[in-house]
Amino acid sequence: MKNQKKKINEKNNKDLAMTSKNICDDEKCPVHGSLRTRGRTFQGVVIKKLPKRVVITFEQTRYVKKYERYRKTRTKIHARLPECMNEQINIGDLVKVTECRPLSKIIHFVVNGKITQGDKK
Ligand SMILES: [Zn+2]
Repeated sequence: MKNQKKKINEKNNKDLAMTSKNICDDEKCPVHGSLRTRGRTFQGVVIKKLPKRVVITFEQTRYVKKYERYRKTRTKIHARLPECMNEQINIGDLVKVTECRPLSKIIHFVVNGKITQGDKK
């Protein structure tokens, strides 16, 4: 059962594994470790880089019922940065994050890859 779960996880992150050549022994890496990702996915710009963690920010439009209009909200997310992506990602980069189990009080997202200008549509 446990093996089967891991297989599914590897399948989900196959495209990412192909782009990142480095191999790491990080247990909490969605590609090489056993961390399972599920839930929401966001794209954001890296504004802060800390050991094994990045802070990203992005804008969302939310509907305000009372005024029947949309309002912009800025969201900040702390995401875990796996070892294999440590060198690729720097401040100012556009990255993709996926929800995972809570890794700490404020971290419940993991960096899932860098978005280069060519990929953006
Ligand atoms: Zn890794």
